[in-house]
Amino acid sequence: MRKTQVGIVGAGPAGLFLAHLLRKAGVEVVVLEARTREYLETSPHRIRAGVLEWGTREMVARAGVGDRMVQEGLGHGGIYLAFEGQLLHLDFHALAGRGIWVYGQQYLVTDLIRHHLEAGGEILFSHEVVGVEDLEEAPTLVYRTPDGRLERLRCEFAVGADGSHSLARKSIPGIQVHQKTYPYAWLGILAQTRPAAEELIYASHPRGFALFSMRSPSLARNYLQVAPEERLEAWPEERIWEELSLRLSGVAEVQPGPILEKSLTPMRSLVVEPMQHGRFFLVGDAAHVVPPTGAKGMNLAFCDVAVLYRALVAFYKEGEASLLARYTQEALRHVWQAELFSYWMTTLLHTAADPFEDRLREAKLRHLGESLHLQRFLAENYVGLHTSGRYTHYIPQSA
Ligand SMILES: Cc1cc2nc3c(=O)[nH]c(=O)nc-3n(C[C@H](O)[C@H](O)[C@H](O)COP(=O)(O)OP(=O)(O)OC[C@H]3O[C@@H](n4cnc5c(N)ncnc54)[C@H](O)[C@@H]3O)c2cc1C
Repeated sequence: MRKTQVGIVGAGPAGLFLAHLLRKAGVEVVVLEARTREYLETSPHRIRAGVLEWGTREMVARAGVGDRMVQEGLGHGGIYLAFEGQLLHLDFHALAGRGIWVYGQQYLVTDLIRHHLEAGGEILFSHEVVGVEDLEEAPTLVYRTPDGRLERLRCEFAVGADGSHSLARKSIPGIQVHQKTYPYAWLGILAQTRPAAEELIYASHPRGFALFSMRSPSLARNYLQVAPEERLEAWPEERIWEELSLRLSGVAEVQPGPILEKSLTPMRSLVVEPMQHGRFFLVGDAAHVVPPTGAKGMNLAFCDVAVLYRALVAFYKEGEASLLARYTQEALRHVWQAELFSYWMTTLLHTAADPFEDRLREAKLRHLGESLHLQRFLAENYVGLHTSGRYTHYIPQSA
């Protein structure tokens, strides 16, 4: 049986960032990833997130893996809210003293893989973990090799970074799952066209919510609120562009272009407690899921990694185990803060089926338009002052 110090399940942003940091700190790490490298770097199903809180950008840069992110990403100083025919600009620098950074998750994953492999790190692609044993003494990852053999990796510590359908989560005995589903989904497109504005527009419209975002000055990433049972076949390109234009009419112009990718994302919130058992820990979507409205998912993954990284390094360098014991307690603070904000943004912007709820929602939007306090609440949470902003100093500045 193979042995290592830290075994990680999953080469998403969480698993890769943790692997990179630990390797740099001199800890032996093995990452097991079910998919191929090509799938992670190029599949349209892995386009996903694109908004980095300032603290996430800072952590990535401090870790020495942000060269392309800094060069090719876009700095944004705020967002727009469109409602009742008006366009409200929220200036994050004025409201919260920080901005955000737009850089695609898939690019970041590609960068992290490249840096880790070039530095001699080990990622076993096409190796699916099918079970976790002995969580308390020496967590052992049971995995299937590409030729179908079952093998075991015995670890001093193991980390489940295997995303929202996590097998790792299910391996923790007695784990509590707190969750909520929403009565809508997002139909997302990636299109070869000029984005509707230079910064993101969150549009609340009687026909439903729409988000206008981007991956670059010539790649638009737009979303439409649709029913949870909606099917992609019901949305040919013309219908999508027509609906996007309707939901933004009077405030900005939508420029149609070739659609490169279409997807449907159900909306749910989920948090598990505890995020650890014995010598086994959960990070990222394996431990919590947020609806994408607040752009928090990937950022939360980086927060968890910062907290767990500091605790593991304290253990390996100083023999200090107390930070590891407190991992769940520390992580749940940023997790629930982001859950709160994501829930708030989601219910503020999506039309509700109940007319009473919907009138209340409209009143909340008007209040936000007039209240500097509410605008500051939104800005502080969006840029991540209370999430990644708390952890940048956990990541040592790389030489
Ligand atoms: C459409 C969409 C839009 C989003 N937009 C945003 C946004 O704007 N901002 C934001 O911050 N977040 C956003 N998110 C959320 C963000 O993508 C996730 O929070 C992020 O991917 C979490 O990273 P992770 O590393 O925890 O999990 P993942 O990225 O899901 O990575 C998990 C990895 O584990 C692997 N794996 C799974 N099971 C196994 C197994 N048994 N054995 C081995 N490997 C396994 C998977 O193949 C995968 O590579 C969005 C998500 C979606 C779907």
